[in-house]
Amino acid sequence: MAAKSQPNVPKAKSIDSVTNDRTASQGQWGRAWEVDWFSLGSIIFLLLCAPFIVYYFIMACDQYSCALTGPVVDIATGRARLSDIWAKTPPITRKAAQLYTLWVTFQVLLYTSLPDFCHKFLPGYVGGIQEGAVTPAGVVNKYQINGLQAWLLTHLLWFANAHLLSWFSPTIIFDNWIPLLWCANILGYAVSTFAMVKGYFFPTSARDCKFTGNFFYNYMMGVEFNPRIGKWFDFKLFFNGRPGIVAWTLINLSFAAKQRELHGHVTNAMVLVNVLQAIYVIDFFWNETWYLKTIDICHDHFGWYLGWGDCVWLPYLYTLQGLYLVYHPVQLSTPHAVGVLLLGLVGYYIFRVANHQKDLFRRTDGRCLIWGKKPKVIECSYTSADGQRHHSKLLVSGFWGVARHFNYVGDLMGSLAYCLACGGGHLLPYFYIIYMAILLTHRCLRDEHRCASKYGRDWERYTAAVPYRLLPGIF
Ligand code: NDP
Repeated sequence: MAAKSQPNVPKAKSIDSVTNDRTASQGQWGRAWEVDWFSLGSIIFLLLCAPFIVYYFIMACDQYSCALTGPVVDIATGRARLSDIWAKTPPITRKAAQLYTLWVTFQVLLYTSLPDFCHKFLPGYVGGIQEGAVTPAGVVNKYQINGLQAWLLTHLLWFANAHLLSWFSPTIIFDNWIPLLWCANILGYAVSTFAMVKGYFFPTSARDCKFTGNFFYNYMMGVEFNPRIGKWFDFKLFFNGRPGIVAWTLINLSFAAKQRELHGHVTNAMVLVNVLQAIYVIDFFWNETWYLKTIDICHDHFGWYLGWGDCVWLPYLYTLQGLYLVYHPVQLSTPHAVGVLLLGLVGYYIFRVANHQKDLFRRTDGRCLIWGKKPKVIECSYTSADGQRHHSKLLVSGFWGVARHFNYVGDLMGSLAYCLACGGGHLLPYFYIIYMAILLTHRCLRDEHRCASKYGRDWERYTAAVPYRLLPGIF
């Protein structure tokens, strides 16, 4: 367990370990209790603008072949009015609504009704019932980890349809892309609103709810920490992974099918985007148990940020490269393609190894080898809201000794590779790297603020031992 109290586990003593006798944690180290004006402003900006940003990107592809400046220039020069653009936007359709309902229902069924069997025959895969981290209130939730199985079955069906059954065209997602956007928005808003009401009136764990007194902040960042329906339907695990991340690879496949339909072939850029993003998605499901220890599940409350973000932002903006390549069938030169592939693979390697090092370190309570050596450790402690003292460790070796968030660097390299696969014709496919750079930089700061209040002096020791956040010597 990442930060579980381990009273019966003998502590692994390391010659480099440092024990902190003082604890500076406040018992509640999670989401903020009070909102400053900057946070409030950012939240209101995002609540108002994020849905329009998504619409703008998708509309720019649909009506302006992905030229981001196209709509602005047309409006500024009087060639088009907002109402003209809106009139050309496909509305929600019955077909899209049925498709989306079927999709979400299918994913709910896979999540709730099919206990994991992959862990029974896949060596090294950890699935089935697993425990999450200790919440600020001291609760340890159990999760049914069956995302890999859901991903495999969904894709098996997709390929069976494409090659044998022909129930629907593989271009179905692209063909209904904007009508589906409205459906995704309806679900995103519905689930976020439901989670907010649930947090106030019938929370799953009242001790893990947080109220700031500010409606917008509560709505955006969530009130409940781990909202659930029944014993197993966990909102965060479901909405984070499925339908959004399962859909990611299907969306890319549909874009590839559309490219073939329109241009007669699938370009190497489209193949690269499909392959590199599929590695990332499969990695996510292969490591779903590890994911229980990441910030999304361990620390974020479930509000609009996760609910709407997982339903709309993720499937629509993380797939922009594939969408762009439908309109611009870029064929890369061999050196360019190899360069992109290498960047993507090296990025993935850093991302995976860094995340694995921390996971292994925490699972074995430090009794493991990192880069062939006994890891350097900083012993740390914190107090949960129930007053219980917990002990944990911070890793100072491997990538965690290079920089405090080197796993993000790997992620950023992979993200850049997806963008570079699209060539240099337009800005739109580069949105992803810009967004990821902002997201992960902000995440560094947010996480460090939280860790500092959780571990106090112990965290200061870690920052002294590993002074840089992302890139040694730079940041
Ligand atoms: P991390 O996996 O880096 O987890 C941070 C937590 O790890 C900290 O809160 C702390 O938790 C613990 N920790 C920090 N330093 C150490 C250390 N030295 N030794 C041991 N434990 C430590 O963060 P994320 O959840 O943000 O990221 C997980 C992965 O997901 C990353 O690779 C990231 O790139 C990726 N990601 C991708 C996104 C996307 O949209 N594509 C979005 C967000 C993340 P504790 O309280 O347990 O000590």
